[in-house]
Amino acid sequence: MFTFHVSWALQCMRRSYFSFYTKSRLSKRLEEKGKLAEKRAEMALKHSGRVWRGKTRELYFKNFTLVGRADFVSEREVVEVKAKLNPAFLLPNMAQLNLYLLMEGKPTGVLLFGDGNIIKLRRSDFLIRQSLKYFETLAEHIVSCRVPEGDRIFCKNCSFRHFCID
Ligand code: SF4
Repeated sequence: MFTFHVSWALQCMRRSYFSFYTKSRLSKRLEEKGKLAEKRAEMALKHSGRVWRGKTRELYFKNFTLVGRADFVSEREVVEVKAKLNPAFLLPNMAQLNLYLLMEGKPTGVLLFGDGNIIKLRRSDFLIRQSLKYFETLAEHIVSCRVPEGDRIFCKNCSFRHFCID
């Protein structure tokens, strides 16, 4: 049984493949940006009502377990904070939030970006199915020791980039 992280959903599959074996490292600058966005969001959310930090949850499927922790949860919503809105990575952001909605049993979610953008969405069963299909495929790659193609269009230039240089 494999354990995959919710935040990998619909990201470059090669990156997720290597992340299964070893943690992908973020640059110091990106890490700081993410922490700052979370701090700001926490302060803003405290004024808007009862909101608490998410707990680590697990979802079990036939071939893998999904693990993840939403940034913030309220009575009706899940809030996921991102440093800034990058349209190229909006779909993976939405997929991640939808899996948190599934984990928390909530109907609506909010993507809160550090640059001030806010996207509200309803739970999408379609996006959840696509994400689960993605993790099924990832499990198949791991079972057969086949490194997936890197996603050149939505490349994050991640810490595994040395495997992607032709
Ligand atoms: S460098 Fe880009 S293509 Fe290569 S694994 Fe990382 S995200 Fe994927």
